[in-house]
Amino acid sequence: MTDGDVPESHPRSESLAVRHRLEAGVERGITHTQGLLAHGRGEAFDYLLGERTIESAARAERSAAAHLLLADRPVLSVNGNVAALVPEGIVELAAATDAAIEVNLFNRTDERLAAIAEHLREHGAHEVLGLDADARLPGLDHERAKVDAAGIPAADVVLVPLEDGDRAEALAALGKVEIVVDLNPLSRSAQAADVPVVDDIVRAIPAVAEHARELAGAPNGELERIIAAFDRERALEAAERTIRTGDG
Ligand code: ATP
Repeated sequence: MTDGDVPESHPRSESLAVRHRLEAGVERGITHTQGLLAHGRGEAFDYLLGERTIESAARAERSAAAHLLLADRPVLSVNGNVAALVPEGIVELAAATDAAIEVNLFNRTDERLAAIAEHLREHGAHEVLGLDADARLPGLDHERAKVDAAGIPAADVVLVPLEDGDRAEALAALGKVEIVVDLNPLSRSAQAADVPVVDDIVRAIPAVAEHARELAGAPNGELERIIAAFDRERALEAAERTIRTGDG
């Protein structure tokens, strides 16, 4: 049996187990109920993509790893869905790239921030930023603008999985290198990203961590070549084509 007592023989056992992780996140005060709706939207795109990592997404994941390794101050932004779905993946990726972890919430409450930070620590995170809220991102309303001065404002590369469109656009306007994980290639977040990763967060984060571990000793020139070879427009087009036609 898997999470939530879903028999492994069930044809959709993986998807149901992931849903159960989100339900448990809601029960623990980590995930907002709105996060369930966002997940449903993601599932629909994943279904059309064939519930797999398409080739262009795999290239985006390698490019994301190269960016994080080359960064001076990489930051991984975590929300309630990310914390519930891939806490160990985030901790592994932070370790592999020497990145800071910052909690950023659309529906921000002190209780949820604390619950997420605690959950990440239980999965091995040492330091979790986002609780001080001693800086603001320009161009966003008060609650959405809150960040830690030591986190996103000081970062040169940010990974923002499942970010809402407004914040993704605000971050892009700040000139950060922005890596977005979003199953919808047409979303404003994916469109604003330097590296749009059109893949399920559950597959994408461990994949980026794996690339980072593999590339850890690589010379900067090789990382730069990987970054230069990635074409964001082509990747977005390829994902859209697969969704519309099933090809690719
Ligand atoms: P836009 O960026 O167009 O403004 P939005 O901010 O309104 O979109 P939401 O309704 O918050 O988007 O939806 C969340 C986004 O996250 C959707 O685009 C959805 O495809 C994506 N998403 C949800 N779950 C996952 C997941 N598990 N992995 C990757 N992406 C996901």
